[in-house]
Amino acid sequence: MAAELELYRVAMPLSEPWRIAISEETAIETVLLCLHTEWGSLWAETTPHALPLYSPDWSAATFELLCHLGPRLLTAEWTSAAALRRELDQIRGNPFAKAAIDQLWWKREAARRGITLHAALGATATAAPVGADIGILGDRDELLARVQAAVDAGYRRVKLKVRPGWDVEEVRCVRDHFPRLTLHVDGNGAYSLHDIDRLRALDRCGLAMIEQPLAHDDLVDHATLQRALLTPICLDESIVSLRHLDHALALGSCRVVNVKPGRVGGFTPALAIVERCRESGIGAWIGGMLESAIGAADCVALACLAGITYPADIFPSERFYERDLAAPGLRFETRPDVGRVVLAAAEAPAPDPELLARWTTARRSFALTAA
Ligand code: MG
Repeated sequence: MAAELELYRVAMPLSEPWRIAISEETAIETVLLCLHTEWGSLWAETTPHALPLYSPDWSAATFELLCHLGPRLLTAEWTSAAALRRELDQIRGNPFAKAAIDQLWWKREAARRGITLHAALGATATAAPVGADIGILGDRDELLARVQAAVDAGYRRVKLKVRPGWDVEEVRCVRDHFPRLTLHVDGNGAYSLHDIDRLRALDRCGLAMIEQPLAHDDLVDHATLQRALLTPICLDESIVSLRHLDHALALGSCRVVNVKPGRVGGFTPALAIVERCRESGIGAWIGGMLESAIGAADCVALACLAGITYPADIFPSERFYERDLAAPGLRFETRPDVGRVVLAAAEAPAPDPELLARWTTARRSFALTAA
């Protein structure tokens, strides 16, 4: 039985500001849990960021909620992920906090069985294709240079963050220089149906998908937009549960889903969403929240699932950080057949103690004793 749970709220400094349609960040706020068990110390990470800009969740609230939920839910012996899920579903919203508990359940289960998380989740591939993700830069020459660097590094698809005013001309410019590159854009909810002319112009740029163009909580307007466009719409922020995906499918709101374990409440719902996408002929791929190597390794395990159809947003640490909070880092390579891939992690990453101490902004620990 687990004896102790530690929680950390951590601000990880970025090597350069990360600018997207809705925010600009110089550090990524993440929440780490460490569960000390008879099988060793198990780390989980959930990364809602500092303020509720991407989603209603934010790190201070997630940390506080986990101080309430963690000791209670991680003391109990859940016979299955589904049993824990029924308990977590009593809590409304707050998927990032639920995700941390759910992910620790899977990690404890994998440790108990003596297998990797990758195997416990049912992943079959040992490497997953990855793509490049370029933020809003404000300079087209810089944008072209970044895309060229991504192509040179072996990436087969590139995602461009866009917002009204940094979109159509920039995407046309990239398309003109890279006519055959798989390219998609992510609006992070910065558009509305009033921007239909801009969205129709993007529709003519040969994009693989337009990710979350409309509001973070919308399904209905996305269905209207999808009917007006040939380019598939990919939903990210709007899909916070399997139920939301089912509603999106019923409405015709999207043809692709970006699955992030934190946003949907953990591995259990992420697996269900990937499976529902596969059954429904909807594309699915794994996104990220600029996690440390701990959360990124979790995303790799999901990206190796059979139902994944598009390269993941999983990056080498040095893409965003001078130093990763955790080690070992992910391993990437470029293969002639599929381009840039990330290898399934052989070893679960853990924080560097010195960096954890330096970047932690709040910490709590709890002794876990069974009732
Ligand atoms: Mg997105």
